[in-house]
Amino acid sequence: MQTNQKQLIIHGGLSAEDLPEEDRQVRREALRDILAEGHAVLDRQGAYQAVIRSCELLEDCQLFNAGTGSTIQRDGQIRLSCGLMDGHRQSFSGLVNARLIKNPIHLAAKLQTLGDRLLDSTGAELFARMSGAEVYDPATSKVIDRWARHRFEDHFTRTHGTVGAAAVDAEGRLAAATSTGGRFMAGVGRVSDSCTPAGNYANDWCALSCTGHGEDILDEALAVRVVVRVTDGMSLVDAVERSFSEARERGRDLAAICVDRSGNIAWQATLGMLVAAYFDREMFRATF
Ligand code: ASP
Repeated sequence: MQTNQKQLIIHGGLSAEDLPEEDRQVRREALRDILAEGHAVLDRQGAYQAVIRSCELLEDCQLFNAGTGSTIQRDGQIRLSCGLMDGHRQSFSGLVNARLIKNPIHLAAKLQTLGDRLLDSTGAELFARMSGAEVYDPATSKVIDRWARHRFEDHFTRTHGTVGAAAVDAEGRLAAATSTGGRFMAGVGRVSDSCTPAGNYANDWCALSCTGHGEDILDEALAVRVVVRVTDGMSLVDAVERSFSEARERGRDLAAICVDRSGNIAWQATLGMLVAAYFDREMFRATF
């Protein structure tokens, strides 16, 4: 926890605590570069553009489960979901299980100006083509191989992951963005929390991006729960503490990164290791 005016925190999802040091280092380096670019945008264009740019770069990084390198559903199809919240305008947009696109967060940004702001798979594909987005297959050979190895099995590790960003700018405006490939071998059409206000939310007081078991995040309405507590006067640290202790009591598997309007940041995970990063007075800090 720290206090600053402008702030940006990003994450690449939850990871196993025994992740080898060399893999941690690769992730830290990737996050450092993305954060540097995100901060440049934060300075020039504010929090809303900074979370979009950070999320786009995280989607393009194959280390994380979003955009290129996303995980796969049971039928061998990759379905991408994302949520974008402009806290100042209190406006949410997103995509649910979109196929054949490179950067879901770009489309979510375009949707912010339209009447229909949350599109399902069919709508997202149509909208992508109408907006001129190229047909893009986000599958990597690693993901396809893994699916091929496990597709006839009933028991395998259902890994997940997500990327996200939360920011406040010099004007005190907040925003949050979250993007995901969901959970490995999820049932066909299963929907992630990331494209709902449970997994991604912001207003003029607080912004959050969540990761973890989507159903647990939905059950806790985690992002909204923390944002409402801060809005009603609780400090960010207390709101996060209370919300996570309730989640722990219910055995949830989830995590979040958070920023408030004064530039305080917080993060927490009930299980596993949260892969997140931020700058503390220009010094790079990773949470892992
Ligand atoms: N929350 C995502 C989902 O359940 C996955 C994750 O964040 O790890 O789809």
